[in-house]
Amino acid sequence: MKAVLKKEKGVGFVIEDIPTPSIGDDEILVKVEVASICGTDVHIYEWNDWAQNRIKPPIVVGHEFAGVVVEKGREVKRINVGDFVSAETHIYCNHCDMCLMNHREVCRNLKILGVDIDGAFAEYVKIPERVAWVNPKEIPHKFASIQEPLGNAVDTVLAEDISGKTVLITGAGPIGLLAIAVLRVFGATKIIASDLSNYHLEIAKKVGADVVVNPLEQNIHDVVLAETHGLGVDVSLEMSGSKSALRDALKLTKYLGRVSLLGLFDKSVDVDLTNDVIFKKLRIYGITGRRIFETWEIVSSLLSSKRLDVSPIITHEFKLEEVDKGIKLMKSHQSGKILLYP
Ligand code: NAD
Ligand code: ZN
Repeated sequence: MKAVLKKEKGVGFVIEDIPTPSIGDDEILVKVEVASICGTDVHIYEWNDWAQNRIKPPIVVGHEFAGVVVEKGREVKRINVGDFVSAETHIYCNHCDMCLMNHREVCRNLKILGVDIDGAFAEYVKIPERVAWVNPKEIPHKFASIQEPLGNAVDTVLAEDISGKTVLITGAGPIGLLAIAVLRVFGATKIIASDLSNYHLEIAKKVGADVVVNPLEQNIHDVVLAETHGLGVDVSLEMSGSKSALRDALKLTKYLGRVSLLGLFDKSVDVDLTNDVIFKKLRIYGITGRRIFETWEIVSSLLSSKRLDVSPIITHEFKLEEVDKGIKLMKSHQSGKILLYP
């Protein structure tokens, strides 16, 4: 089969013919119909510090996908050949203390598809049955592969009730954009989005941001305070992984407010906890992955009901062989979500 490989250490991917995976008793084989590029794939492509420490080439990359089950192992009961599935990409162990407490998103023995084991940028991918999610029939196939990042967005937004709240999203990359669309559906009443890319901010407006701000061009503190009667927002969602954006988010959240942190920082960050968090009695949530499978239920229902329109966020669709083009576009911040078709 055709597959996108991180073949050896260093920059880039290689497209190669490799044997179709053979499955174990508890696994299923899926013919990939559509996949999408994640920021993590870009890091693996670029071979950044994180990738150098984590990835053991050769490995098939990619983890966001949807496709049809073509084969199942002897012990597989819940999934059938012909099912249209996506996958929870965090392959949990099901026996550590976190898994036993139904917090599989923080499984202590987590393996990630396309990071630790062969992934989905290929004609076929094998996954354990326990991480397969059967998509509702009504779900537009085109959108089925982005449920995994949409799950990140949903959990970041819904860490607490959002209805009637003013919200700041720092970082309108693909996941920040999904969060804006989700905020709209769940009834946030003022949505302010910041990003350094005006391309992203244009999409942010299309999916429901009331106010957009580029901190390179405007003073974000002035904009947010002017929009919130000088008080700051009820809720901030940090989705950039930028230190300055984190500081903005904490300073611009009002007393008794909530901050959800999804963005990942490559180094430790200095913040004024005393004044910006403690004396304001903020509630801070770290968000990782998605709740398995509660979040999937919400995500699938948002898409199959067509209540959530993610079409403005999907900006490009390429053949799998054009993955390089997709990665370069992502790096230029001139794209939203990019789909790949094997
Ligand atoms: P992305 O890198 O594509 O988007 C980040 C956006 O932040 C970019 O559009 C960038 O222009 C913007 N940005 C950078 N500095 C900024 C600043 N000072 N102010 C405002 N905006 C700024 O990433 P993504 O795929 O959308 O993911 C969002 C973040 O979430 C990333 O940090 C990613 O690593 C992280 N992430 C975390 C999890 C998790 O489980 N916690 C899962 C997926 C992604
Ligand atoms: Zn576990």
